[in-house]
Amino acid sequence: MILVVEDEAALAEVLRYNLEGEGFRVTVAPDGRTAMEKLEESPPDLVVLDWMLPEVTGLEICRTMRRRPELRDLPVIMLTAKGEEHDRVRGLDAGADDYVVKPFSPKELVARVRAVLRRTKAGAGGEPLRAGPLEMDLETHRVRRDGAEVALAPTEFRLLRVLLERPSRVYSREQLLDLVWGRDIYVEARTVDVHIRRLRVALNQNGAKDLIRTVRSEGYALEPEGA
Ligand code: CA
Repeated sequence: MILVVEDEAALAEVLRYNLEGEGFRVTVAPDGRTAMEKLEESPPDLVVLDWMLPEVTGLEICRTMRRRPELRDLPVIMLTAKGEEHDRVRGLDAGADDYVVKPFSPKELVARVRAVLRRTKAGAGGEPLRAGPLEMDLETHRVRRDGAEVALAPTEFRLLRVLLERPSRVYSREQLLDLVWGRDIYVEARTVDVHIRRLRVALNQNGAKDLIRTVRSEGYALEPEGA
């Protein structure tokens, strides 16, 4: 089930038509309150969330979802007319998994929905996480680069898992602290740098290409094709 949160009825219907045509079941909420009701009633597999909604914005809904344990792992694709990099970062910061700028083709949105579902299911269903030369088996806790095993300490393993789940996405140090160490533990932001350095050493043996990109004053991202 896909929950489409969109106040423009015509666009909501176009999305419903296209998603149903691809075999998804769809439910529509025209505002944040209805969306939260539907989320509590029966959580969908994914939420397509418009940024500009009456009363509560999509951004706020996304933040609220990420604060609630039962909703925090639900994939979210944000829809917005704002195409600026700054807004994209804000959307992703609020916890969106992907971002589509209006106007977009329904085909593009369906492709994004499939991609996000594939990514989130890979983590849950015993399928290894893969990106470029990397492969992470979550059941056996083994990591390989180009087929060769990489030995990782538990923290580096968790760090890589977070980065691998969304390749190319830039994470701030604070986000990595939350996702890898948890919100309740106090760890200095610099600790992230230390573990990123260790992860780099482990992954980039024998002069292999660096796969971790440092984004100045932003954070880090995993780049499957090389940083
Ligand atoms: Ca709208």
